[in-house]
This record gives sequence, C-alpha cells and structure tokens, in this order.
Amino acid sequence: MTDPDLVAERKMQFLFALRSRGVTDQAVLSAMEHVDRGLFVRGLFAERAYEDTPLPISCGQTISQPSVVGLMTQALEITPRDKVLEVGTGSGYQAAILSQLARRVYTVDRHKRLVMEARGVFDALGIVNITSLIADGSFGLPDQAPFDRIIVTAAAEDPPGPLLAQLKIGGIMVVPVGQSDAVQSLIRVRRTETGFDYDEMRAVRFVPLLEGVAREND
Ligand code: SAH
Repeated sequence: MTDPDLVAERKMQFLFALRSRGVTDQAVLSAMEHVDRGLFVRGLFAERAYEDTPLPISCGQTISQPSVVGLMTQALEITPRDKVLEVGTGSGYQAAILSQLARRVYTVDRHKRLVMEARGVFDALGIVNITSLIADGSFGLPDQAPFDRIIVTAAAEDPPGPLLAQLKIGGIMVVPVGQSDAVQSLIRVRRTETGFDYDEMRAVRFVPLLEGVAREND
C-alpha cells in the first residue's frame, strides 16, 4: 500500500474505530497512531492490519483486536516512569504500544519463533526499551520484579499467583480470566496496602495461557 491518500484514510478509520469502541485516552491513541500495526502482521492477512479485528500470526496464535489492545492499555493507566511486564508477546504489537508509554517493558512468550520475529520488528522500529524473553510467563519474571503494571494477553483460569505477587503496591494488572475457548472476562486488579481490588471490565476472547515453554515445532 503506497498511495498516501489511502494510507491516511485507513489511519483515520483505524483511529475512529478505536474511539468509537471506547479508547479515549489521548496518549494511548497517539501511541496507536504512531506504531504501524501493519508491521506486525505477515502474509495474507497484512492487508487487513488496519481493521478492528484479531488476525492470525505464527505458531497458531493471534494478534489482538486493536480496540481491545487500546482498552487494556488504557486500563493500565501507565505513567512514563513505569516498568511493565507483558505475558504473551505474540506479534509484539501490544508491547510496542506499551513501549511508547512506559519507561521499560519486559515481554515474554513461550514460543521462541514469536519472540525472535517480534524482536526483529522492535529493532526495525528503533524501539530500545523493550526486553523480550522466551519463558513461561505464568511465573512472571522474579529477577525483574516488582512491576508497576502487568498485562496478560492470554486467558488464565485465575489471575496467576506469581504475577499478583510481583505487582507493586499501587500497581495495576489487566488479565483475561476464564476457561479457554469460552467467553472470558477482562479483569483489572489493583494492589492495595492490604490486598487486591478486582473489577470486571468486559467480555473478551483470548487464546489460553499454556504451561511451559513450547517445543520448537509446536
Ligand atoms: N499480545 C500479543 C497477542 C498475544 S496472543 C500481540 O500483541 O500480538 C497470546 C500469546 O500468549 C501467544 O503468543 C502465546 O504463545 C502466549 N502464551 C500463552 N501461554 C503463555 C505462557 N504461559 N507464557 C508466555 N506466553 C504465553
């Protein structure tokens, strides 16, 4: 796609769809305007990168719907000093959005191939504040904990205990919760001095959070 008018029009439609679905935070909208989703979607589906729809990526996974990326990012209330953990790098798109708002982003995925591909895009975009790792993110990253913000982009049955433990007091975590393949609820957790406050945001559908690091050919 090279026609500049077409590019501008698609961008406008993309931002319009985000706003009409409730993404109203200006910093989040600017980040999503700045980071080209087209770079994170390959092959046949690249054409549809600016539609508000999830799309298939490598390893049988999906890049989330842009409005869901926007709503989850907005719910995190990120400040420029924050250290953020993302579980489920996938294409790297969500991490790239987070990198525009936070001081540092750690992102982990159980698929080596996804991590390598995402790193390639971060490098191409000149993003230097993302550290990406191959790991089972259900255990978080004890060496880098605690985190100001945590975002999980795969569905767990419950918010994983190690992630709750790695959230700072005053920190926020957003996580889809529910049985895989069923409708899940997007939950926002705030850690207080004395415990955790939970609020349910909306119904969503994510791929499941799976155990362990994937084998090479999975
Ligand atoms: N945030 C991504 C979309 C994530 S799809 C994006 O912006 O494109 C969910 C991802 O979670 C998949 O890539 C899957 O491999 C990963 N995943 C599932 N279980 C995991 C686990 N236990 N640890 C780390 N990553 C996991």
